[in-house]
Amino acid sequence: MSGNNIYIKVYRSEFDKIESIPIEEIVKMKVISNIDISFHIELLKVQAIVARTQVVRNARCFGGVGYESCNECDLCDIDNNIHIVDEEYLKKLWKENFEEYKDKLNRAMKETEGLIITINNKPIDAHYHNTCGGSTENSENVIGNEIVYLRRVLCEYCEDSPYWNNKKKFLLKDIEEKLNVKFPTAYYGLDTEIKKFIEDIERDENGRVTALKIAGKTFKGQDVMKLLQLNSTRFSISPEVISFNTGGKGHGLGICQYGANKMANTGCLYEDIINYYYTGVEIKKCNKPSIKKPLSGKIIVLDPAQGGESCNDAVGINGLREKEVVLEIAKKMYKELKECGADVFLTRSKDEYVSLGKRAKFGNDKRPDFFISLSLNSFPNPSIHGCEIYYYKRDKDSEGLGNSIMDSLVSGVNVVNRGVKNADFFLLKEIKNSSLQIFLDYITNPEQEKKLSNVNYIDKMSHFLVKGIVYYYRY
Ligand SMILES: [Zn+2]
Repeated sequence: MSGNNIYIKVYRSEFDKIESIPIEEIVKMKVISNIDISFHIELLKVQAIVARTQVVRNARCFGGVGYESCNECDLCDIDNNIHIVDEEYLKKLWKENFEEYKDKLNRAMKETEGLIITINNKPIDAHYHNTCGGSTENSENVIGNEIVYLRRVLCEYCEDSPYWNNKKKFLLKDIEEKLNVKFPTAYYGLDTEIKKFIEDIERDENGRVTALKIAGKTFKGQDVMKLLQLNSTRFSISPEVISFNTGGKGHGLGICQYGANKMANTGCLYEDIINYYYTGVEIKKCNKPSIKKPLSGKIIVLDPAQGGESCNDAVGINGLREKEVVLEIAKKMYKELKECGADVFLTRSKDEYVSLGKRAKFGNDKRPDFFISLSLNSFPNPSIHGCEIYYYKRDKDSEGLGNSIMDSLVSGVNVVNRGVKNADFFLLKEIKNSSLQIFLDYITNPEQEKKLSNVNYIDKMSHFLVKGIVYYYRY
């Protein structure tokens, strides 16, 4: 993509207006506000790719969520940490380094133009932080869910960071205030111990300290009084200040900036750094935004189950046949998926028998992003109905698509959700790419059979199946 001709509509909170800004300009401003430009140029490149990934992931024109309060704009400046600045501002900020920093930043931008970090062709949630302090964090420990590319990696590269080790002291009364708690009040008879600091306080019957252990060493009460010039041995101990010692700065997810800078200083390139801190990602040129063709570049194989004279398809009480319904839906999906820009293939386009082996081979030959098989279920008890979607165990992508399609069908045509589950059906096992087997509903339920014989319902169901796929692929 060429950054100069992609404009992002940014909501400028301060002025309550929308402004169109070239994406590369936005990326540059994000870099300026998120890293010290004196850092190594490879780190500036990393930061540019990270910033671009965030913009592409969030901007509405790329299929992101955009800004909820304003439908016409792609991003909100505040939510996306975009500080719009001009050259005058930068002159003041960079002072005598202005020319040098400007060149350096422009070079970092130019050499990474259009690049984003992806996993399965989707931009990642590109987190970074200042200093990890020894190792980065697993995502589930910070944001709750497990994200494959946000895994803990060891990092001693940041040990020169000023934030590697820090202390912050608090008065107890400030902690009481901030955390809304109350510490016990000390009085001279109280034998409050602070393990390994002050322990084993012994007193006589009058409350005077006769002995105590400080940092593991035993003292007489009298000696402590003299050494610390206390007024008497009738004393108690209470902390006034607590020091919190921290290693690192930031949430610890993804890139450790200080560590990355050290890596760059030892000769690592931006791609080395990105691949070190994000597990299993790819750096790619991002596609041009296309709302009209949200599935461009995607390959999908649709597999209407059954088919042929002697097939054993499910049949409704009024004679509706599974093989006909699924073929009809597959054809409608084919058309709509094409309109969305996908490359689509059907394992059969007429009433013919195609063996499972042939379907699997066809699917593997096309190397699709997804192989989607469409079936209808049957059951002796006619009251049973609802949709079931199956994926091959541990195939997270298929599970994700399955959930997206299920949600779309539930909200679009009101199907009963009977679960998105894993299974080891023949096709799921044999297809080397991600695959789903969708049992749209039970044809043996008379009410569903009636719906499935209605062309409007078939139209709608096909549309919401496609919508589930489009939604899954939103950036
Ligand atoms: Zn680090």
